[in-house]
Amino acid sequence: MAFINKILQKTKSKIGDRDSHSATPEKMALPQLDSPTDGVPGLPMSPNVAQPYSSAPLSQPHSAGYRPHQQQQQQQQYLPIHAAASTPAAQKHIVPSNAPAVLSSTSVATRAASFSLGVHSVNNPPTTTGAMYSGNAHQYMAAQQQQQQQLYGQHQHYQAQPVAATSAHSQQYYHHPQPPPPPPLVPVVPQELAAVDNGDRPYDDTHVRLDEFEVFRTVGTGSFGRVRLVRHRTTNKYYAMKVLRKSHVVRVKQVEHVNSERRILAECNCPFIVNMLGTCQDRVNLYFFMEYVVGGELFTYLRRYQQFPSPVAKFYAAEVLLALEYMHARNIIWRDTKPENILLDSLGHVKLTDMGFAKKVVDRTWTLCGTPDYLAPEVIQAKGYGKSVDWWALGILIFEMIAGYPPFYDEDHYRLYEKVLAGHIQWPSQFDPIARDLVSRLLTADLSRRLGNLHRGSTDIKEHRWFAEVDWDRLAAREIPAPLIPPQKVEGDTSNFDKYPETPETYGDTTSLDPYADLFLEF
Ligand code: AMP
Repeated sequence: MAFINKILQKTKSKIGDRDSHSATPEKMALPQLDSPTDGVPGLPMSPNVAQPYSSAPLSQPHSAGYRPHQQQQQQQQYLPIHAAASTPAAQKHIVPSNAPAVLSSTSVATRAASFSLGVHSVNNPPTTTGAMYSGNAHQYMAAQQQQQQQLYGQHQHYQAQPVAATSAHSQQYYHHPQPPPPPPLVPVVPQELAAVDNGDRPYDDTHVRLDEFEVFRTVGTGSFGRVRLVRHRTTNKYYAMKVLRKSHVVRVKQVEHVNSERRILAECNCPFIVNMLGTCQDRVNLYFFMEYVVGGELFTYLRRYQQFPSPVAKFYAAEVLLALEYMHARNIIWRDTKPENILLDSLGHVKLTDMGFAKKVVDRTWTLCGTPDYLAPEVIQAKGYGKSVDWWALGILIFEMIAGYPPFYDEDHYRLYEKVLAGHIQWPSQFDPIARDLVSRLLTADLSRRLGNLHRGSTDIKEHRWFAEVDWDRLAAREIPAPLIPPQKVEGDTSNFDKYPETPETYGDTTSLDPYADLFLEF
């Protein structure tokens, strides 16, 4: 276990966290999931698949309707999701009380953020380039606050447009009567920025200009920055703008990852991966402009429904599999599977976001990065690894969707890694046995036996009995209707996302020389 200690030692303070916010709990109307007994539309239930769920639709988050009758007595033990969510910064970390760890009814577990510990290579032994948070929920939140201040606290000079001038828009796009919506942020873009001098930088059609967009509210925060809704001034189309502060990226040694994220997003053209419109930069920040995925995170729905019926989990797992297959065909490993990074579009189809840890790898890589719950044993053991880690993570995802918590869950990271290495999974009694067989084959430490990592690659997974009824061609064409259509009242609707404290920022600062000019030449 020496290497676990080593990892933990290296990870005393955290470098970044997608959850570094205190989200206001907000009641979201829950769309109905199609009746689980009918299977996912277009994914008829296999005659071999046990149908453990009642026919009641998933119309209420806490109704027992969709649970197996055997579980109904346990209903009271589930954490009241809104109550638990009232803890600042905790909304995304709620673990239902059916999780195997000992959690009191007020206990709020934290999901550690994505982290990266730099590139290890044979010639370049492991170096600590960042650290992961390890501690209790209280420390975690304090650390998040501190990081939030570090990230956003210093810039106080954004300009909000006068409320009167923008109230029509804010009325239209902010559906939350209490508290009244803040006016949209409007970037102060000096005219000079319109002509950012690209110098000798290669310029292709994936470059945009900041002043082409109006900037609205924050819809997400990630390990290294935040994501805002923006609207193109000419086309009126909505996009998501991910903003990364250069100084922070440099401080936490993520320059290579960020450049790689740009390259990979530009390369990917897959219906199940978020599409990038372009990027740009100013003295302070890097900006990614991506299609805006209106349905929000799969995570939100999973936590609200607590568990997905097996056919519903199957639909999401199958679309994620196609996205992974697409990336692997281009030698890209995603390395950041988790429900927070899986967004749902307006029709409920999957869009993977956050390619921050995605990497082109022909052979093996050694970087220790990802989210603790989803780390494969070969990553924890600092062995060289390849695409196999994404198939492991797919196993964790399927388990988490069906069980409602990840298989090796533990608040303590040391114990979490121990459980991963021991392969000790506590299966809920109602877990679909065929799904269990697939998950066991994916969560196989032995790489020569892990499904997806064998000579037939992802075909072995697609041909597993759990996916027997999936028409993969129709799925790839997005012809299979999704089990859940996210509510959307207007274009640019942000009601499917948590609310985040807005931070005043200046976008488009070109007032002085850029000390990082050489580092991000492709933006
Ligand atoms: P990231 O920094 O890429 O991990 O993104 C942080 C969060 O921002 C995600 O978990 C989503 O909630 C949100 N987000 C990221 N990309 C998009 C997008 N293209 N459309 C809508 N929301 C997004």
